[in-house]
Amino acid sequence: MIATSDRQPPSASCPCRECGQDQPPSSLDAYSGLCPNCAAWEELQQAVYHHAPHLWSAGSIVSDLEATTSQQAISEIVESMALEAGMSEQLSETIVKALLFDQEAASTAIDHGLAMLHVTHPSVAEPLASVARSQFGIDFGSPDGHPAKVFVVLVSPPQPPAEHLRLTATAARLLRNYSRRTAT
Ligand SMILES: [Zn+2]
Repeated sequence: MIATSDRQPPSASCPCRECGQDQPPSSLDAYSGLCPNCAAWEELQQAVYHHAPHLWSAGSIVSDLEATTSQQAISEIVESMALEAGMSEQLSETIVKALLFDQEAASTAIDHGLAMLHVTHPSVAEPLASVARSQFGIDFGSPDGHPAKVFVVLVSPPQPPAEHLRLTATAARLLRNYSRRTAT
């Protein structure tokens, strides 16, 4: 006999194992206990390791950004990237400034809460990348008005430009897959 008295009624909500936000039980993944957003985030990280292991490492993934403004977010992400890549403080400051102010060298694409920031810099020998997530979202002045929640930051040498395009294409594909998973 199964005791029914301590069972949750079917309508009760359960917290996601990762972010703790209450979800209807039907939307939590049965195996991982993750909400759709956290499951997609986990998948994005795995895809990153799989498709570009030379670019990404544990240190350049920030699962829970503390930043509340776009400027803070960029600093926080580049800082974690710099730590991982052994980048000098001076170079990481230069990259933050370029991402913020240099529209010649840097580009930002934001769509559906996903932001891809890309900058080229001659002092960078190898391409570097970082992915980050903000639980609450950060206003990046997106045309669709959605705060950005997932970020991919790419820093690459200006040459060769083809490598550059390959990187942004990979990042865009990963973000598209993520966006498909989280679309409601
Ligand atoms: Zn969650």
